[in-house]
Amino acid sequence: MKIHRASPLEPDQATMVDMANLVTQQVATFLTTLDSRPTHDRTVPEVEEKLAESFLSGPPENGTPFASLMDQLGTAAESAIESAGPRLMAALPGGGLYSSALAEFFTRALNRYGTLAAAAPALTALEEGVLRWMAQDVCGLPPGSSGILTTGGSMANLSAVVTARHDRLGEDIGRGTIYVSEQAHYSVAKAARIAGIRQQNVRMIPVAENLKMDLGLAAERIRADRSAGLRPFLLVATAGTTDTGAIDPLTDAGALADREDLWFHVDAAYGGFFRLTARGRERTAGIERADSVTLDPHKALFLPFGTGALVVREPARLHAAHEGSAPALQDVGTSDALPDYAQRGIELSRENRGVRVWLPLHLHGLSAFRDALDEKLDLAGHIHSKLSAVPRLDVPWHPELTAVAFAVRPRHPGATARRDADAATRQLLDRINSDGRAMVHSTTIAGRQLIRICVLAHRTHREHVDEVLDVITAGTAEL
Ligand SMILES: *Cc1c(COP(=O)(O)O)cnc(C)c1O
Repeated sequence: MKIHRASPLEPDQATMVDMANLVTQQVATFLTTLDSRPTHDRTVPEVEEKLAESFLSGPPENGTPFASLMDQLGTAAESAIESAGPRLMAALPGGGLYSSALAEFFTRALNRYGTLAAAAPALTALEEGVLRWMAQDVCGLPPGSSGILTTGGSMANLSAVVTARHDRLGEDIGRGTIYVSEQAHYSVAKAARIAGIRQQNVRMIPVAENLKMDLGLAAERIRADRSAGLRPFLLVATAGTTDTGAIDPLTDAGALADREDLWFHVDAAYGGFFRLTARGRERTAGIERADSVTLDPHKALFLPFGTGALVVREPARLHAAHEGSAPALQDVGTSDALPDYAQRGIELSRENRGVRVWLPLHLHGLSAFRDALDEKLDLAGHIHSKLSAVPRLDVPWHPELTAVAFAVRPRHPGATARRDADAATRQLLDRINSDGRAMVHSTTIAGRQLIRICVLAHRTHREHVDEVLDVITAGTAEL
Protein backbone atom coordinates (compact mmCIF):
# COMPACT_ATOMS: atom_id res chain seq x y z
CA MET A 1 0.00 0.00 0.00
CA LYS A 2 1.27 3.43 -0.89
CA ILE A 3 1.90 5.60 2.15
CA HIS A 4 1.12 9.26 1.73
CA ARG A 5 3.42 11.35 3.78
CA ALA A 6 1.87 14.77 4.23
CA SER A 7 4.50 17.43 3.67
CA PRO A 8 3.98 21.00 4.78
CA LEU A 9 5.72 21.93 1.52
CA GLU A 10 2.79 20.55 -0.48
CA PRO A 11 -0.62 21.82 0.66
CA ASP A 12 -3.72 19.81 -0.31
CA GLN A 13 -6.14 21.11 -2.91
CA ALA A 14 -8.55 22.83 -0.53
CA THR A 15 -5.67 24.55 1.25
CA MET A 16 -4.24 25.75 -2.06
CA VAL A 17 -7.52 27.33 -3.03
CA ASP A 18 -7.91 28.90 0.42
CA MET A 19 -4.44 30.36 0.28
CA ALA A 20 -4.98 31.80 -3.20
CA ASN A 21 -8.35 33.22 -2.13
CA LEU A 22 -6.75 34.99 0.77
CA VAL A 23 -4.15 36.57 -1.52
CA THR A 24 -6.61 37.63 -4.22
CA GLN A 25 -8.98 39.09 -1.61
CA GLN A 26 -6.18 41.12 -0.11
CA VAL A 27 -4.94 42.27 -3.50
CA ALA A 28 -8.40 43.17 -4.77
CA THR A 29 -9.09 45.25 -1.66
CA PHE A 30 -5.75 46.95 -2.08
CA LEU A 31 -6.19 47.72 -5.78
CA THR A 32 -9.78 48.96 -5.48
CA THR A 33 -8.80 51.46 -2.78
CA LEU A 34 -5.73 52.84 -4.58
CA ASP A 35 -7.49 56.03 -5.54
CA SER A 36 -7.87 57.12 -1.92
CA ARG A 37 -4.37 56.22 -0.81
CA PRO A 38 -1.55 58.73 -0.39
CA THR A 39 1.32 58.26 -2.83
CA HIS A 40 3.89 58.69 -0.11
CA ASP A 41 3.64 59.22 3.59
CA ARG A 42 6.51 60.84 5.42
CA THR A 43 4.75 61.27 8.72
CA VAL A 44 6.54 58.78 10.95
CA PRO A 45 9.94 57.76 9.62
CA GLU A 46 10.90 56.08 12.92
CA VAL A 47 7.97 53.68 12.69
CA GLU A 48 8.90 52.88 9.10
CA GLU A 49 12.51 52.23 10.08
CA LYS A 50 11.43 49.89 12.89
CA LEU A 51 9.19 48.02 10.51
CA ALA A 52 11.94 47.67 7.93
CA GLU A 53 14.29 46.44 10.63
CA SER A 54 11.84 43.77 11.74
CA PHE A 55 12.04 42.24 8.27
CA LEU A 56 15.80 41.87 8.40
CA SER A 57 15.64 38.89 10.75
CA GLY A 58 16.02 35.31 9.44
CA PRO A 59 13.34 32.60 9.21
CA PRO A 60 12.01 30.58 12.19
CA GLU A 61 12.61 26.87 12.77
CA ASN A 62 8.90 26.07 12.65
CA GLY A 63 6.30 27.49 10.30
CA THR A 64 3.98 30.49 10.80
CA PRO A 65 0.29 30.62 9.80
CA PHE A 66 -0.23 31.85 6.24
CA ALA A 67 -2.78 34.51 7.20
CA SER A 68 -0.39 36.04 9.69
CA LEU A 69 2.36 36.18 7.08
CA MET A 70 0.02 37.81 4.56
CA ASP A 71 -0.80 40.39 7.21
CA GLN A 72 2.87 41.11 7.61
CA LEU A 73 3.33 41.39 3.85
CA GLY A 74 0.40 43.78 3.66
CA THR A 75 1.98 45.99 6.30
CA ALA A 76 5.32 45.92 4.50
CA ALA A 77 3.69 46.82 1.18
CA GLU A 78 1.88 49.76 2.78
CA SER A 79 5.18 51.21 3.87
CA ALA A 80 6.18 52.27 0.36
CA ILE A 81 5.82 54.81 -2.37
CA GLU A 82 2.46 53.97 -3.94
CA SER A 83 3.95 52.93 -7.26
CA ALA A 84 0.75 51.18 -8.36
CA GLY A 85 -1.41 54.23 -7.77
CA PRO A 86 -2.72 56.99 -10.02
CA ARG A 87 -0.85 59.92 -8.46
CA LEU A 88 2.70 58.73 -8.90
CA MET A 89 3.93 61.07 -11.61
CA ALA A 90 7.64 60.68 -10.90
CA ALA A 91 10.15 58.55 -12.82
CA LEU A 92 8.34 56.33 -15.34
CA PRO A 93 5.34 54.80 -13.56
CA GLY A 94 3.53 51.87 -15.15
CA GLY A 95 1.00 50.85 -12.54
CA GLY A 96 1.13 47.07 -12.94
CA LEU A 97 -1.70 45.16 -14.64
CA TYR A 98 -3.66 42.73 -12.50
CA SER A 99 -4.08 40.36 -15.44
CA SER A 100 -0.31 40.18 -15.83
CA ALA A 101 0.16 39.37 -12.14
CA LEU A 102 -2.29 36.48 -12.47
CA ALA A 103 -0.47 35.23 -15.56
CA GLU A 104 2.70 35.30 -13.51
CA PHE A 105 1.09 33.31 -10.70
CA PHE A 106 0.08 30.68 -13.23
CA THR A 107 3.54 30.45 -14.79
CA ARG A 108 5.29 30.30 -11.44
CA ALA A 109 2.98 27.68 -10.01
CA LEU A 110 3.39 25.41 -13.03
CA ASN A 111 7.10 26.18 -13.10
CA ARG A 112 7.84 25.44 -16.74
CA TYR A 113 11.44 25.80 -17.83
CA GLY A 114 11.41 28.92 -19.95
CA THR A 115 14.79 28.86 -21.53
CA LEU A 116 15.07 25.74 -23.68
CA ALA A 117 12.41 25.34 -26.38
CA ALA A 118 12.27 21.55 -26.15
CA ALA A 119 11.32 21.76 -22.47
CA ALA A 120 8.04 23.58 -23.22
CA PRO A 121 7.56 24.12 -26.96
CA ALA A 122 4.10 25.69 -26.96
CA LEU A 123 4.97 28.16 -24.21
CA THR A 124 8.21 28.98 -26.03
CA ALA A 125 6.16 29.60 -29.18
CA LEU A 126 3.90 31.87 -27.15
CA GLU A 127 6.92 33.87 -25.94
CA GLU A 128 8.35 33.93 -29.45
CA GLY A 129 5.01 35.22 -30.75
CA VAL A 130 5.17 38.08 -28.26
CA LEU A 131 8.72 38.91 -29.36
CA ARG A 132 7.91 38.78 -33.08
CA TRP A 133 4.96 41.07 -32.46
CA MET A 134 7.22 43.54 -30.64
CA ALA A 135 9.95 43.35 -33.30
CA GLN A 136 7.85 43.28 -36.44
CA ASP A 137 4.51 44.90 -35.64
CA VAL A 138 5.54 47.40 -32.97
CA CYS A 139 9.00 48.36 -34.25
CA GLY A 140 8.56 47.60 -37.95
CA LEU A 141 11.63 45.36 -38.19
CA PRO A 142 11.57 42.88 -41.09
CA PRO A 143 10.21 39.30 -41.07
CA GLY A 144 12.64 37.06 -39.20
CA SER A 145 13.31 39.67 -36.53
CA SER A 146 12.74 38.69 -32.92
CA GLY A 147 14.63 39.00 -29.64
CA ILE A 148 14.58 38.18 -25.97
CA LEU A 149 12.49 39.16 -22.98
CA THR A 150 14.69 40.47 -20.20
CA THR A 151 14.00 41.72 -16.70
CA GLY A 152 14.14 45.35 -17.79
CA GLY A 153 15.56 48.01 -20.09
CA SER A 154 19.00 48.03 -18.49
CA MET A 155 19.47 44.33 -19.20
CA ALA A 156 18.22 44.84 -22.75
CA ASN A 157 20.70 47.69 -23.30
CA LEU A 158 23.47 45.49 -21.91
CA SER A 159 22.71 42.67 -24.34
CA ALA A 160 22.49 45.22 -27.16
CA VAL A 161 25.94 46.65 -26.40
CA VAL A 162 27.40 43.14 -26.07
CA THR A 163 25.85 42.09 -29.38
CA ALA A 164 27.09 45.19 -31.20
CA ARG A 165 30.56 44.74 -29.72
CA HIS A 166 30.72 41.07 -30.66
CA ASP A 167 29.39 41.71 -34.15
CA ARG A 168 31.53 44.71 -35.02
CA LEU A 169 34.71 44.33 -32.96
CA GLY A 170 35.14 40.62 -32.32
CA GLU A 171 37.57 40.26 -29.43
CA ASP A 172 39.67 43.30 -30.19
CA ILE A 173 37.62 45.71 -28.13
CA GLY A 174 40.18 48.11 -26.68
CA ARG A 175 39.77 50.80 -29.32
CA GLY A 176 35.99 50.47 -29.68
CA THR A 177 33.97 53.68 -29.32
CA ILE A 178 30.25 54.27 -28.70
CA TYR A 179 28.14 57.34 -29.56
CA VAL A 180 25.17 58.27 -27.44
CA SER A 181 23.50 61.57 -26.57
CA GLU A 182 24.14 63.25 -23.25
CA GLN A 183 20.40 62.92 -22.57
CA ALA A 184 20.52 59.12 -22.96
CA HIS A 185 19.71 56.84 -20.04
CA TYR A 186 22.73 56.11 -17.85
CA SER A 187 22.25 52.38 -18.35
CA VAL A 188 23.93 52.69 -21.77
CA ALA A 189 27.22 53.93 -20.31
CA LYS A 190 26.90 51.36 -17.53
CA ALA A 191 26.32 48.60 -20.09
CA ALA A 192 29.41 49.74 -21.97
CA ARG A 193 31.51 49.52 -18.81
CA ILE A 194 30.21 46.04 -17.99
CA ALA A 195 30.83 45.02 -21.61
CA GLY A 196 34.49 46.00 -21.27
CA ILE A 197 34.34 49.24 -23.27
CA ARG A 198 36.48 52.01 -21.83
CA GLN A 199 34.42 54.74 -20.20
CA GLN A 200 36.48 57.35 -22.00
CA ASN A 201 35.40 55.70 -25.26
CA VAL A 202 31.73 56.34 -24.62
CA ARG A 203 31.15 59.62 -26.44
CA MET A 204 28.41 61.72 -24.88
CA ILE A 205 27.22 63.72 -27.88
CA PRO A 206 25.71 67.13 -27.02
CA VAL A 207 22.05 67.76 -27.73
CA ALA A 208 20.43 70.62 -29.60
CA GLU A 209 18.07 73.02 -27.83
CA ASN A 210 15.22 70.53 -28.27
CA LEU A 211 17.27 67.95 -26.30
CA LYS A 212 17.76 65.72 -29.36
CA MET A 213 21.18 64.41 -30.29
CA ASP A 214 23.14 66.74 -32.55
CA LEU A 215 23.91 64.33 -35.38
CA GLY A 216 26.31 66.75 -37.06
CA LEU A 217 28.50 66.66 -33.97
CA ALA A 218 28.12 62.87 -33.78
CA ALA A 219 29.31 62.53 -37.39
CA GLU A 220 32.31 64.80 -36.76
CA ARG A 221 33.27 62.84 -33.67
CA ILE A 222 33.00 59.50 -35.44
CA ARG A 223 35.28 60.71 -38.24
CA ALA A 224 37.79 62.25 -35.84
CA ASP A 225 37.89 59.06 -33.79
CA ARG A 226 38.41 56.92 -36.85
CA SER A 227 41.27 59.14 -38.05
CA ALA A 228 42.82 58.79 -34.60
CA GLY A 229 42.89 55.00 -35.01
CA LEU A 230 39.85 54.22 -32.87
CA ARG A 231 37.06 51.85 -33.93
CA PRO A 232 33.59 53.43 -33.81
CA PHE A 233 31.12 50.53 -33.65
CA LEU A 234 27.84 51.60 -32.07
CA LEU A 235 25.42 54.52 -32.33
CA VAL A 236 22.67 54.61 -29.70
CA ALA A 237 19.65 56.82 -30.31
CA THR A 238 16.93 57.32 -27.71
CA ALA A 239 13.23 57.12 -28.56
CA GLY A 240 11.99 59.00 -25.53
CA THR A 241 14.56 60.25 -23.06
CA THR A 242 13.67 59.44 -19.48
CA ASP A 243 13.70 63.09 -18.39
CA THR A 244 11.57 64.75 -21.05
CA GLY A 245 10.61 62.11 -23.61
CA ALA A 246 12.73 63.72 -26.34
CA ILE A 247 13.02 61.49 -29.40
CA ASP A 248 16.30 61.62 -31.29
CA PRO A 249 16.05 62.06 -35.10
CA LEU A 250 15.84 58.33 -35.76
CA THR A 251 15.78 58.31 -39.56
CA ASP A 252 18.86 60.50 -39.79
CA ALA A 253 20.60 58.61 -36.98
CA GLY A 254 19.97 55.36 -38.84
CA ALA A 255 21.37 56.87 -42.03
CA LEU A 256 24.47 58.06 -40.17
CA ALA A 257 25.01 54.62 -38.64
CA ASP A 258 24.63 53.12 -42.12
CA ARG A 259 27.12 55.49 -43.71
CA GLU A 260 29.65 54.93 -40.95
CA ASP A 261 28.98 51.20 -40.73
CA LEU A 262 27.99 51.29 -37.05
CA TRP A 263 25.52 49.07 -35.23
CA PHE A 264 22.36 51.14 -34.75
CA HIS A 265 20.62 50.62 -31.43
CA VAL A 266 17.49 52.51 -30.39
CA ASP A 267 16.71 52.75 -26.69
CA ALA A 268 12.91 52.90 -26.82
CA ALA A 269 12.38 51.78 -23.23
CA TYR A 270 10.04 54.72 -22.73
CA GLY A 271 8.71 55.53 -26.19
CA GLY A 272 8.57 52.15 -27.94
CA PHE A 273 5.03 51.07 -27.12
CA PHE A 274 3.65 54.49 -27.99
CA ARG A 275 3.96 53.12 -31.51
CA LEU A 276 0.60 51.50 -30.82
CA THR A 277 -0.83 55.02 -31.28
CA ALA A 278 -0.85 57.06 -34.49
CA ARG A 279 1.04 59.93 -32.85
CA GLY A 280 3.66 57.66 -31.37
CA ARG A 281 4.17 55.88 -34.67
CA GLU A 282 4.71 59.15 -36.48
CA ARG A 283 7.07 60.55 -33.84
CA THR A 284 9.25 57.44 -33.73
CA ALA A 285 9.46 56.98 -37.50
CA GLY A 286 12.87 55.63 -38.45
CA ILE A 287 13.01 53.11 -35.61
CA GLU A 288 12.57 50.42 -38.25
CA ARG A 289 16.14 51.12 -39.42
CA ALA A 290 17.53 49.84 -36.13
CA ASP A 291 19.70 46.76 -35.71
CA SER A 292 18.31 46.45 -32.19
CA VAL A 293 15.66 48.13 -30.04
CA THR A 294 15.14 48.16 -26.27
CA LEU A 295 11.53 48.11 -25.10
CA ASP A 296 10.17 48.12 -21.56
CA PRO A 297 6.76 46.49 -21.14
CA HIS A 298 6.86 47.49 -17.47
CA LYS A 299 6.62 51.09 -18.57
CA ALA A 300 4.28 51.88 -21.46
CA LEU A 301 2.63 48.44 -21.52
CA PHE A 302 1.75 48.89 -17.81
CA LEU A 303 3.16 45.52 -16.74
CA PRO A 304 4.44 44.94 -13.20
CA PHE A 305 8.16 45.64 -12.77
CA GLY A 306 10.46 42.96 -14.13
CA THR A 307 9.85 42.76 -17.88
CA GLY A 308 12.00 44.37 -20.55
CA ALA A 309 12.74 43.34 -24.13
CA LEU A 310 15.50 43.52 -26.67
CA VAL A 311 14.39 43.02 -30.25
CA VAL A 312 16.88 42.62 -33.08
CA ARG A 313 16.82 42.72 -36.86
CA GLU A 314 18.87 39.53 -37.11
CA PRO A 315 18.47 37.12 -34.18
CA ALA A 316 21.49 35.16 -35.45
CA ARG A 317 23.72 38.02 -34.32
CA LEU A 318 22.17 38.07 -30.86
CA HIS A 319 22.69 34.32 -30.73
CA ALA A 320 26.33 34.59 -31.84
CA ALA A 321 27.08 37.02 -29.02
CA HIS A 322 25.33 34.99 -26.30
CA GLU A 323 25.68 31.31 -27.23
CA GLY A 324 27.22 28.71 -25.00
CA SER A 325 26.96 25.02 -24.29
CA ALA A 326 27.54 22.55 -21.51
CA PRO A 327 27.70 18.74 -21.34
CA ALA A 328 24.94 18.83 -18.72
CA LEU A 329 22.55 20.15 -21.35
CA GLN A 330 23.35 17.54 -23.99
CA ASP A 331 20.16 15.51 -23.45
CA VAL A 332 17.85 18.43 -24.07
CA GLY A 333 17.12 18.54 -27.76
CA THR A 334 17.12 21.72 -29.75
CA SER A 335 14.28 22.88 -31.90
CA ASP A 336 14.79 24.16 -35.42
CA ALA A 337 11.64 26.21 -35.39
CA LEU A 338 11.92 27.74 -31.94
CA PRO A 339 14.77 29.49 -30.13
CA ASP A 340 16.51 28.45 -26.95
CA TYR A 341 16.47 31.72 -25.07
CA ALA A 342 19.58 30.66 -23.20
CA GLN A 343 21.36 31.29 -26.52
CA ARG A 344 19.93 34.77 -26.94
CA GLY A 345 20.59 36.23 -23.54
CA ILE A 346 22.70 36.22 -20.42
CA GLU A 347 20.64 33.86 -18.28
CA LEU A 348 20.22 30.10 -18.36
CA SER A 349 17.45 29.06 -15.95
CA ARG A 350 14.54 31.44 -16.03
CA GLU A 351 10.78 31.49 -15.98
CA ASN A 352 8.75 31.74 -19.13
CA ARG A 353 8.43 35.50 -19.51
CA GLY A 354 6.03 35.48 -22.41
CA VAL A 355 2.89 34.56 -20.49
CA ARG A 356 2.79 37.75 -18.46
CA VAL A 357 2.86 39.83 -21.66
CA TRP A 358 0.66 37.52 -23.74
CA LEU A 359 -2.23 37.24 -21.31
CA PRO A 360 -2.93 40.98 -20.92
CA LEU A 361 -2.53 41.59 -24.67
CA HIS A 362 -4.99 38.83 -25.55
CA LEU A 363 -7.37 39.49 -22.68
CA HIS A 364 -7.73 43.23 -23.21
CA GLY A 365 -6.84 43.49 -26.91
CA LEU A 366 -4.54 46.06 -28.49
CA SER A 367 -7.24 48.72 -28.59
CA ALA A 368 -7.31 48.93 -24.78
CA PHE A 369 -3.58 49.69 -24.73
CA ARG A 370 -3.82 52.13 -27.63
CA ASP A 371 -6.64 54.04 -25.92
CA ALA A 372 -4.78 54.20 -22.60
CA LEU A 373 -1.61 55.50 -24.29
CA ASP A 374 -3.58 58.04 -26.31
CA GLU A 375 -5.16 59.22 -23.07
CA LYS A 376 -1.69 59.73 -21.54
CA LEU A 377 -0.54 61.72 -24.59
CA ASP A 378 -3.64 63.91 -24.25
CA LEU A 379 -2.95 64.39 -20.54
CA ALA A 380 0.62 65.50 -21.24
CA GLY A 381 -0.69 68.01 -23.77
CA HIS A 382 -3.17 69.24 -21.17
CA ILE A 383 -0.41 69.64 -18.56
CA HIS A 384 1.75 71.51 -21.04
CA SER A 385 -0.95 73.99 -21.97
CA LYS A 386 -2.11 74.57 -18.38
CA LEU A 387 1.41 75.20 -17.09
CA SER A 388 2.32 77.36 -20.09
CA ALA A 389 -0.55 79.65 -19.11
CA VAL A 390 1.05 80.38 -15.72
CA PRO A 391 3.24 83.47 -16.31
CA ARG A 392 5.81 82.62 -13.62
CA LEU A 393 6.49 79.21 -15.07
CA ASP A 394 8.71 78.31 -17.99
CA VAL A 395 7.70 75.12 -19.84
CA PRO A 396 10.49 74.82 -22.39
CA TRP A 397 9.59 71.70 -24.38
CA HIS A 398 6.34 70.54 -25.91
CA PRO A 399 6.01 66.88 -24.86
CA GLU A 400 6.52 64.27 -27.57
CA LEU A 401 5.57 61.59 -25.08
CA THR A 402 4.11 62.06 -21.60
CA ALA A 403 6.77 63.87 -19.53
CA VAL A 404 6.52 67.62 -19.05
CA ALA A 405 9.43 69.55 -17.48
CA PHE A 406 9.01 73.06 -16.15
CA ALA A 407 10.70 75.58 -13.88
CA VAL A 408 10.07 78.86 -12.14
CA ARG A 409 11.22 81.68 -14.41
CA PRO A 410 14.11 83.89 -13.26
CA ARG A 411 12.80 87.38 -12.50
CA HIS A 412 15.53 88.95 -14.63
CA PRO A 413 18.69 87.91 -16.48
CA GLY A 414 21.87 87.05 -14.58
CA ALA A 415 23.33 84.33 -12.42
CA THR A 416 21.78 85.47 -9.12
CA ALA A 417 18.24 85.58 -10.47
CA ARG A 418 18.82 82.16 -11.97
CA ARG A 419 19.96 80.74 -8.63
CA ASP A 420 16.88 82.25 -7.01
CA ALA A 421 14.68 80.68 -9.67
CA ASP A 422 16.31 77.28 -9.01
CA ALA A 423 15.59 77.70 -5.29
CA ALA A 424 11.97 78.68 -6.04
CA THR A 425 11.61 75.65 -8.30
CA ARG A 426 12.80 73.37 -5.47
CA GLN A 427 10.41 75.11 -3.11
CA LEU A 428 7.56 74.48 -5.53
CA LEU A 429 8.59 70.82 -5.79
CA ASP A 430 8.41 70.47 -1.99
CA ARG A 431 5.00 72.14 -2.02
CA ILE A 432 3.65 69.65 -4.59
CA ASN A 433 4.93 66.67 -2.62
CA SER A 434 4.24 68.08 0.85
CA ASP A 435 0.92 66.45 1.69
CA GLY A 436 1.88 63.05 0.30
CA ARG A 437 -1.06 62.77 -2.06
CA ALA A 438 0.89 62.95 -5.28
CA MET A 439 4.55 62.59 -6.13
CA VAL A 440 6.65 64.27 -8.80
CA HIS A 441 10.43 64.48 -9.10
CA SER A 442 12.91 67.05 -10.27
CA THR A 443 15.83 66.81 -12.66
CA THR A 444 18.76 68.94 -13.76
CA ILE A 445 19.19 69.81 -17.42
CA ALA A 446 22.10 72.00 -18.54
CA GLY A 447 22.66 73.00 -14.92
CA ARG A 448 19.08 74.12 -14.43
CA GLN A 449 16.61 72.77 -11.88
CA LEU A 450 13.38 71.51 -13.43
CA ILE A 451 10.31 69.77 -12.07
CA ARG A 452 9.15 66.90 -14.17
CA ILE A 453 5.64 65.46 -14.32
CA CYS A 454 5.32 62.12 -16.02
CA VAL A 455 1.95 60.48 -16.62
CA LEU A 456 2.32 56.89 -17.66
CA ALA A 457 0.43 54.64 -15.21
CA HIS A 458 -2.74 53.18 -16.71
CA ARG A 459 -4.58 54.32 -13.58
CA THR A 460 -3.72 58.02 -13.98
CA HIS A 461 -6.61 60.04 -15.40
CA ARG A 462 -7.63 63.65 -15.90
CA GLU A 463 -8.86 64.16 -12.32
CA HIS A 464 -5.52 63.08 -10.85
CA VAL A 465 -3.61 65.39 -13.15
CA ASP A 466 -5.91 68.32 -12.43
CA GLU A 467 -5.42 67.82 -8.71
CA VAL A 468 -1.65 68.23 -9.16
CA LEU A 469 -2.07 71.16 -11.53
CA ASP A 470 -4.21 72.95 -8.94
CA VAL A 471 -1.48 72.52 -6.32
CA ILE A 472 1.12 73.86 -8.76
CA THR A 473 -0.96 76.90 -9.62
CA ALA A 474 -1.63 77.67 -5.97
CA GLY A 475 2.01 77.02 -5.02
CA THR A 476 3.31 79.28 -7.77
CA ALA A 477 1.05 82.10 -6.63
CA GLU A 478 2.58 81.85 -3.15
CA LEU A 479 6.20 82.12 -4.32
C1 LIG B 1 13.78 53.19 -17.80
C2 LIG B 1 14.77 53.33 -18.88
C3 LIG B 1 15.86 52.45 -19.00
C4 LIG B 1 16.16 51.41 -17.96
O1 LIG B 1 15.17 50.46 -17.89
P1 LIG B 1 14.95 49.57 -16.58
O2 LIG B 1 13.80 48.72 -16.99
O3 LIG B 1 14.63 50.51 -15.46
O4 LIG B 1 16.19 48.81 -16.34
C5 LIG B 1 16.68 52.56 -20.10
N1 LIG B 1 16.47 53.52 -21.02
C6 LIG B 1 15.46 54.41 -20.92
C7 LIG B 1 15.29 55.44 -21.98
C8 LIG B 1 14.58 54.34 -19.86
O5 LIG B 1 13.58 55.23 -19.76
